[in-house]
Amino acid sequence: MQLNFIGNSNVLSSSGKTLPVLDPSDGQPFDELQRSNAQDIDAAVRAARDCFDTTWHKVSAAERGRLMMKLSQKIAAHADELALLEQRDCGKPVKQARADALALVRYFEFYAGACDKLHGETIPYQDGYSVFTWREPHGVTGHIIPWNYPMQIFGRSVGGALAAGNACVVKPAEDACLSLIRVAQLAAEVGFPAGAINIVTGYGHEVGDALARHPGIDHISFTGSPRVGTLIQQVAAERHCPVTLELGGKSPQIIFADADIDAAIPVLINAIVQNAGQTCSAGSRVLIERGIYEPLLDRLGKAFEALRVGPAAMDLDVGPLIRQSQQQRVWDFLSDAHAAGIPMVAQGTVVDEAPETGFYQAPTLLRDVPVNHRLAQEEVFGPVLAAMQFADEDQAVELANATQFGLVAGVWTENGARQFRMAKRLRSGQIFINNYGAGGGVELPFGGVKSSGYGREKGFEALYGFTTLKTVAVKHG
Ligand code: NAD
Repeated sequence: MQLNFIGNSNVLSSSGKTLPVLDPSDGQPFDELQRSNAQDIDAAVRAARDCFDTTWHKVSAAERGRLMMKLSQKIAAHADELALLEQRDCGKPVKQARADALALVRYFEFYAGACDKLHGETIPYQDGYSVFTWREPHGVTGHIIPWNYPMQIFGRSVGGALAAGNACVVKPAEDACLSLIRVAQLAAEVGFPAGAINIVTGYGHEVGDALARHPGIDHISFTGSPRVGTLIQQVAAERHCPVTLELGGKSPQIIFADADIDAAIPVLINAIVQNAGQTCSAGSRVLIERGIYEPLLDRLGKAFEALRVGPAAMDLDVGPLIRQSQQQRVWDFLSDAHAAGIPMVAQGTVVDEAPETGFYQAPTLLRDVPVNHRLAQEEVFGPVLAAMQFADEDQAVELANATQFGLVAGVWTENGARQFRMAKRLRSGQIFINNYGAGGGVELPFGGVKSSGYGREKGFEALYGFTTLKTVAVKHG
């Protein structure tokens, strides 16, 4: 049975209740989690506050960096163990689970090096004054994490917050907690003080809500759906608590006729099937210039047909979806598309070895998707790619920007001037030209515009969000 991790101890929830942990590859329970409550959150916040006040804020930036580097090395030494946990817990194919563990290593390595490079400025003011700024940690930060990339999102969110000197209370998603509980234990083993990293598991509407409402939380980093992002924002507004929101996406990949198609195809495919399409920055719309629409769809269709889906341990192209309700969600999108007469170009194959009780979905390519159909507007969060065609650059921009989201966009063209024009005109937090990094790049500031959220995580930029700026003005004559 999995326990909460509070003040460097493994503890039972005060609720006395548990939740089953299901393996998405066969739909069967194999472990149990604490179904925590507001009392557990309160205990974790108190542990974090105590840590921050008595220990953590006295640790120098250089020493914090050393601790974070030690944790990075410890995670690297346990990468196989962590990958196996994530593989079972989230249904990730072996390659993906390993990549996520290594990304976590890299986050702690990056933020270890960043700890002692974060500083304020001096400001020229009136004669007789010296004015400067300090970047101070918020204190206790709350981190609400989704199930699709637990290790990666922990790395970018908690890694950045610790580097800036905060103590953290983490609420992983109820479907994906195992790797994070283990990472917190490893942090204690390398010397993180009690209360620096606390993990409390349970349902969002119970324990996530309690975390967002707790008056002892000084900043909330939320990654998840736009719907819950709105709730978090409302709750946080009651006490003016700053929030970073990393929400959903409907990211376009725009292919001009002059693009290097051979280079683009594997990237287009990976951007939608990686993690079974359950990626906020999945390239879920492909916008293709009219002259190459048919030949490119033909090639994409063949690539889709070659994709194989199966249990995580088989390490095929695609694993299962996280749970049955997610599978139902994808089916609903596909049946709506069918009812609207949207043509299907191709589908991959679920292998015979996949248990019927697992949550599988064959990757599906659909064409001529109308811009106002929900397939072109809403996040499916499954391996479903919507193709549309455009006549020219203006129409490409119009279609690309025509959703509530603005997380990532990809542009494929060999025309250098067009690359810059497109990058300027697309409303999106990240733009990739002739490449696409769904979720990738520890160093690259990441976050959205519009309903994709606000604030930035990853890269050095994240550290500004995890600190507050204090201005000190000294009059000395
Ligand atoms: P979700 O919003 O349902 O859950 C996210 C987290 O919020 C979970 O830990 C959940 O338990 C918690 N939660 C749920 N209800 C809550 C409440 N009332 N109060 C507080 N916490 C609550 O999202 P999900 O289904 O876990 O993840 C998929 C979504 O996350 C997609 O929309 C995806 O695009 C988004 N996402 C965004 C990014 C990004 O960086 N922009 C990254 C990954 C996932």
